Amino acid sequence: MKRPTAARVALFTESVIREMTRLCHDHDAVNLAQGFPDFEAPAALLQAAAKALRDGWNQYAITWGSPRLRQAIAAKASRELGLAIDPERHVTVTCGATEAMMATLLAVVDPGDEVVLFEPFYENYGPDALLSGARVRYVRLDLTDPVVPFDPAELRAAFGPRTRAIIVNTPHNPTGKVFTREELELIAALCREHDVLAVTDEVYEHILYDGARHVSLAALDGMAERTVVVNSMSKTYSVTGWRVGWTLCANPAITDGIRRAHDFLTVGAAAPLQEAGAVALAFPRSYYDELGRAYQRKRDIMLGMLRDAGFRCVVPRGAYYVMADIGGLSADDDVTFTTAMIATVGVGAVPGSSFYHDPAAGRRLIRFAFPKKDETLAEVRRRLGRLAPARRA
Ligand code: GLN
Repeated sequence: MKRPTAARVALFTESVIREMTRLCHDHDAVNLAQGFPDFEAPAALLQAAAKALRDGWNQYAITWGSPRLRQAIAAKASRELGLAIDPERHVTVTCGATEAMMATLLAVVDPGDEVVLFEPFYENYGPDALLSGARVRYVRLDLTDPVVPFDPAELRAAFGPRTRAIIVNTPHNPTGKVFTREELELIAALCREHDVLAVTDEVYEHILYDGARHVSLAALDGMAERTVVVNSMSKTYSVTGWRVGWTLCANPAITDGIRRAHDFLTVGAAAPLQEAGAVALAFPRSYYDELGRAYQRKRDIMLGMLRDAGFRCVVPRGAYYVMADIGGLSADDDVTFTTAMIATVGVGAVPGSSFYHDPAAGRRLIRFAFPKKDETLAEVRRRLGRLAPARRA
């Protein structure tokens, strides 16, 4: 065929995260590239899913989500945000946060509109913006500073007459930055001033370290009606394969647009898993406290072994990734270093360049994911021990 595909899919390449996952399979490497747990989800949740299958929840759910799950999402969010979230008018269940983000941008962005994005960014946002026809304005996060700040003047300059939305991911993938209330107040002020929508990816909201606090833009003054919160079960309940996510927006007109995009993209998320999801969303506070404690331990183990292996690390305050500088180990670029590490050391990571629009900006960085069992992390420590001789060679 002369023209096998449309121009739109030529705008981006395949996901580097999933490419690295394949490479890990080929080389029998421990996959610290794609961020997913290698331990089991809570037993109560698995039982609820099995029960939902047996109880006959096997046909389409309502397109915008099972009433029970939307009710549970609204109850939890209302409590945490201090807002009255209405499951009928504010919540849309999607196939993961991935579809939630895509459906949201399709619903709100017109071709030529601008979207502001902090960089480095989770790789999906690039193609999401391109597929929706947006032009992206990047604002750089400074990884050389422990709080990973941005320059307020640069952010201000990114807002203009064509700005339609800003994507804010906190806790942040890949840096682990947790945006402070002051930073979010500045973003909120710019959104109000320029009549801009905030789309917030909060999937790591319960994975926080060193006493860091998660603040949602939706909870700030005047932001509830101009914020779409994207969230999912994947990270909070360790079920990344379920593909159950949602959007939450206290603006019924925006919710309506998201629902229409979602309806024709996927019809709906898996019905039995939505029923089970309602059980998870009602877990007590102690579940989230324990999740945070367990991940804090894993973060400390991960940081310790990366430093011992010779990496310089950005200390994450949230989420479950570590961005590491390879400068102390190698003069290679990130892609060469990572592919060699997978093949010879047997540990997978993601090249830093895949989180930047200009690959050169990430060429000394790689990202490790650590939602792994203790024995997996111990095996990684053993394998990383092989890095040093490679450096001397
Ligand atoms: N969010 C996860 C990561 O950053 C999974 C990415 C994916 O494959 N969708 O690794």
